[in-house]
Amino acid sequence: PLTSNDAIEEHRICVCVRARPLNKKELSVKDLDVITIPSKDVVMVHEPKQKVDLTRFLENQTFRFDYAFDKSSTNEMVYRFTAQPLVETIFERGMATCFAYGQTGSGKTHTMGGDFSGKNQDCSKGIYALSARDVFLMLKKPVYKKLDLQVFATFFEIYSGKVFDLLNRKAKLRVLEDGKQQVQVVGLQEREVKCTEDVLKLIEMGNSCRTSGQTSANAHSSRSHAVFQIILRRRGKMHGKFSLIDLAGNERGADTSSADRQTRLEGAEINKSLLALKECIRALGRNKPHTPFRASKLTQVLRDSFIGENSRTCMIATISPGMASCENTLNTLRYANRVK
Ligand code: ADP
Ligand code: MG
Repeated sequence: PLTSNDAIEEHRICVCVRARPLNKKELSVKDLDVITIPSKDVVMVHEPKQKVDLTRFLENQTFRFDYAFDKSSTNEMVYRFTAQPLVETIFERGMATCFAYGQTGSGKTHTMGGDFSGKNQDCSKGIYALSARDVFLMLKKPVYKKLDLQVFATFFEIYSGKVFDLLNRKAKLRVLEDGKQQVQVVGLQEREVKCTEDVLKLIEMGNSCRTSGQTSANAHSSRSHAVFQIILRRRGKMHGKFSLIDLAGNERGADTSSADRQTRLEGAEINKSLLALKECIRALGRNKPHTPFRASKLTQVLRDSFIGENSRTCMIATISPGMASCENTLNTLRYANRVK
């Protein structure tokens, strides 16, 4: 497995996978681990090591990514190889994006936002907060200090193709494209932040806003994309932007056959946006002039991050280790495999 001594490679697009440990629920129904990460960039899906009556034969499948993180990996470790190298990008006038992609319950929010599962919510260990910490560290470096940069944050969600501001009581916002093909989310709150603590407060605020009025936090968050952005400005002009995205659960695409109309529409919208996302990242990797960003609200809003010389992205595909999840896990791995 990866250690902190491993070299970090420079990629325009970095795709990695993270497996979490079996959780209490999975253990209680005696689900079995079907994931092995034999080296720092390989993930294997296989039959469980224990002897069981398999209802179906699980074929061994091996995938290779830039990095593979096993169940013992920490957020700090995942961060180090994924989002951390992108912090410098925004100081160098670039655009960076980092996506968590995977089925509901696989660890997207744990990775990006921190742990919200327990009573004492802790968002200081998530990639949002770790990125913010390093932005403020970078600001102290003499080369950047003299630029007189200001730091701002936004936090919004995209639900059924509509944008809602999580820093402003879920106000519904319009997305406009001007003649110069600049995309603007009209009225999106951009809060100035002076230290990591300020950022943590915004994350907490946004998170409680995200789930308020919902019967189940996960039911809602599995259907929406959450976008957290750190923006650097110099004399009011954008210098760099880092967008960190906790995507809707990819299993929701299957809801397109649901009996419920609303669920069906949501599923179709999620499908559309995840497909568009894949195409946009692929276009970025191939320096293609035409990025199909208009195909979904998610990619439209992130348009300026998919074009330009100095745009970089990373995707963290999160997977559940259980046999019961293996269909979704394989779908996640195949998607991630196609992004690059
Ligand atoms: P998602 O956002 O993909 O739906 P969550 O991040 O909410 O999934 O994770 C589901 C549950 O699994 C949570 O209780 C979370 O704390 C736990 N979990 C996720 N990833 C890990 C991990 N790497 N180590 C330990 N627990 C994890
Ligand atoms: Mg989540």
